[in-house]
Amino acid sequence: MTTLFLDRSTPDMRRGACPALSTPMQTGDGLLARVALIDVITPAELAELCRLARRHGNGILDISARGNLQVRGLNETSAPVLDADVRVLNLPLREGLAVETPPLAGMDDTEIADPRPIAEAIRQGARDIPGLAPKMSVVVDGGGRLRLSGLLADIRLAAVSSDEGIRWTLLLGGTETAGRVFNVLRETEAVSAILALLRKLGEKGPKARGRDLAAGLPTNGAPGQPASPFGTFRLSGHRFAAGIGPAFGQTNAESLIALCDEAERLGIQSLKPAFDHSLLFFGAQTACEALTAFAGSNGFITSPSDPRSAIAACSGSPACNSAAIATHELAAKAAEECGDLLDGSFKLHVTGCPKGCAYPQPSALALCGTTAGLSLITQGKAADEPFASVAFADTNNSLRRIADLVRNERQAGENSAACLARLGPRRLAAAVTSGRS
Ligand code: SF4
Repeated sequence: MTTLFLDRSTPDMRRGACPALSTPMQTGDGLLARVALIDVITPAELAELCRLARRHGNGILDISARGNLQVRGLNETSAPVLDADVRVLNLPLREGLAVETPPLAGMDDTEIADPRPIAEAIRQGARDIPGLAPKMSVVVDGGGRLRLSGLLADIRLAAVSSDEGIRWTLLLGGTETAGRVFNVLRETEAVSAILALLRKLGEKGPKARGRDLAAGLPTNGAPGQPASPFGTFRLSGHRFAAGIGPAFGQTNAESLIALCDEAERLGIQSLKPAFDHSLLFFGAQTACEALTAFAGSNGFITSPSDPRSAIAACSGSPACNSAAIATHELAAKAAEECGDLLDGSFKLHVTGCPKGCAYPQPSALALCGTTAGLSLITQGKAADEPFASVAFADTNNSLRRIADLVRNERQAGENSAACLARLGPRRLAAAVTSGRS
């Protein structure tokens, strides 16, 4: 149960094509390459990746909402060299289909089932399935403290305890709550059912997604707010995990190298990038606590009560050419001034343009940069109809007015997400435009 997979005894398997790394994407600050891992690495390995990011890119790294490392600022010449240099490190790179499991899988006494064997069988079985969408993702969630409930997935298996034993709910599309229930299966049936669905999607071609097979199926409902990966977690076998993250998912190589060096000094031997732009470091309790203190004093997020952890901000200006606003500046201001609004019940989505890279699902409140200023959207995605539009100069005042309105109107026991939903677009628009709450 406590095994941390650091055995790299099958390097050739690891060295196959990693599409995320080999096919960098164009962004405003050059090409971006994704380093998708399926297992833990050492702090020294992450520090080496940071050095490669500095050597070949602009030294800025992201940890994505799904827990992928991203190296920014590459060009046509440097991207293939990074690819080759990363492969020399013999990291557990993901090949082919993304099959994700919770970051504490196999180490968490509270999980219903260890999802890793099923995930590995799906990875292996899906190797020969042609025609899948490049962003197709499968989540296998055995439950526990850090479930992947909030991540979108084409196909999801979620463990449930029943009187008959452990069963796996198979969902199509959406988050765990919004996904459609396709079936409830025994473990022995789960892998073949998923592979059959993947084959069906492959036959439909690379535009087909899980939701395309979900017509007429009931919505799952179920889980509410997913847990935050920030903080310290007690694991099985007297081990602990420290969940730490850079503000708004982005950091420079130097800061991350310093964090990795400190982790190594404290005897921490493994880490894993995880959802919500986090890094989970695994080690003894004292080491995890000391690393958390070090990270906190160096500007990293270390607690779910940090309002920055309640903000999903894309790279924004100047990193992205499509961005109309400096998202990280705006997000930092929002965290500073609207701490009580950001109570963890929703993600404040701050986006440089309507594409909404940082948060593809609807949010209780989204701020979207436009050529004219800022659009404010409630209960929707960045591209949805705004309830108000404000000039750049009025951005901070508008946010403050919304925070004041929620503070004044919040009912006993009501969190910010519920309060925003109850107030609705008209009340929010009135507060923003009139300045009166
Ligand atoms: S949402 Fe728009 S501005 Fe932000 S990173 Fe994506 S494309 Fe760039």
